Amino acid sequence: NPGSAPPRLPFSRVTQEDLAFFRTMLPGRTITDPDLLKSSNVDWLKTVEGNSEVLLRPKTTEEVSQILRYCNERNLAVCPQGGNTGLVGGSVPVFDEIILSTSLMTQVLTFDNISGILTCQAGCVLENLSNYLEERDFIMPLDLGAKGSCHIGGNVSTNAGGLRLLRYGSLRGTVLGLEVVLADGQILNCLATLRKDNTGYDLKQLFIGSEGTLGVITAVSILCPRKPKAVNVAFLGCSSFKQLLETFQCCRGMLGEILSAFEFLDASCMSLLEKHLKLTNPITESPFYIVIETAGSNATHDEEKLHNFLEEVMTSSLVTDGTVATEATKIKALWSLRERVTEALTHEGYTYKYDISLPVEKIYDLVQDMRGHLGDRAKNVVGYGHVGDGNLHLNITSPSKDPALLASIEPYVYEWTSEWKGSISAEHGLGLKKRNYIYYSKPSEAVALMGSIKAMLDPKGILNPYKTLPDNIH
Ligand code: FAD
Repeated sequence: NPGSAPPRLPFSRVTQEDLAFFRTMLPGRTITDPDLLKSSNVDWLKTVEGNSEVLLRPKTTEEVSQILRYCNERNLAVCPQGGNTGLVGGSVPVFDEIILSTSLMTQVLTFDNISGILTCQAGCVLENLSNYLEERDFIMPLDLGAKGSCHIGGNVSTNAGGLRLLRYGSLRGTVLGLEVVLADGQILNCLATLRKDNTGYDLKQLFIGSEGTLGVITAVSILCPRKPKAVNVAFLGCSSFKQLLETFQCCRGMLGEILSAFEFLDASCMSLLEKHLKLTNPITESPFYIVIETAGSNATHDEEKLHNFLEEVMTSSLVTDGTVATEATKIKALWSLRERVTEALTHEGYTYKYDISLPVEKIYDLVQDMRGHLGDRAKNVVGYGHVGDGNLHLNITSPSKDPALLASIEPYVYEWTSEWKGSISAEHGLGLKKRNYIYYSKPSEAVALMGSIKAMLDPKGILNPYKTLPDNIH
């Protein structure tokens, strides 16, 4: 199967001399205890496991630079790791790559409360940054279910989308600067804090979404919005996906600039939330559920808009039932119905995950088509995701790993996506699992150019080998 591990490339193996070098440079932060290494060798989904014997925990950019200079000279492969919440097998070693963790790079460097520009080290946990900013009346421009563990460096390396993209756009717009250590140890300081800077090529974009294959991100500067004064969340039920899309259209028109999220989950997701996480459905059972968030600066104005919108969708029967929250704990509870679907699925056995961009009117057709295609060979075929961004999370479960089922899903799912000119990875990246399917979304000329860029920046290929680029490019 094209998603499984290729043969090991001829990198050096870590020797006692190498360990002695690392221990001198990072005393107490060169981890070789197999028990401590275990969780860093396995991905969040527990579907990919490497066999690294050493985990390094630098605290500074200079240390990252020294590590990479050494590894490059010695031809030792390196797997950069943030919070290890990635979903495509990119954040764990495939064989014995050295794990370079950003977990001790947790300093906020500067925050400007006029421009809202934050600069911080790559290992800051997203939720900690959110809390830091909220105390200063700002928020992070991105939010996702893994916020309690994922690092900002990991978010940038995967170009994570998440729940606020609809409102604040992609990290390609909000990240203003990066500091990156290249494979040979060179430090590239592009940590600009400017909103506008058209001086030559925008090199930081190369590293955004490159999944640790072109350099190690050590610091990030990012533009943060003001904390909205009023936040409301509505949780609604719809009887068909067509009505859900009409609700989306109506919502954009009536809520306009205060709309900050439009997410959905289907009834199968709701059953799994109830079954595994004991969450309660707050409204009448429906085939589809929507989470709408508004974020604005005037509570009365926002509530009036939301009220008018709800009245419209209820009277026109687009929506069958709904509930609204304005208070923080209730908002959190409604959001958890969307955010915890990924977690609920892990209790079902083995999950085959697909993160697809499609024209928005097509996104649920893929789920229905897949149900018909797989019949009772799959335990569950569920759909949820970011309607506002045309991004479907299609998840298929089986009691355990099932190669025959996988052969029925792939490449079928990619062919389907490509036929509708979609993307086979909207936000999770390609990692190990999807690397060989890149051609379904990119022409071969583009992939070849990616290969040339990789060869230029990392001639020995030590950075996150076996990931992102297809095997024929390495
Ligand atoms: P890791 O998993 O550690 O690494 C991810 C990749 O980046 C790997 O290839 C790794 O080598 C590389 N990397 C990490 N740090 C660096 C660095 N400093 N320099 C260079 N390369 C680096 N994603 C979304 O886009 N939207 C969502 O809504 C979303 N929701 C999620 C919900 C849950 C419950 C979970 C578990 C995951 C979710 N994800 C989502 C997946 C998402 O990719 C990650 O959560 C997050 O962006 C990864 O950050 P991390 O620090 O955990 O990175």
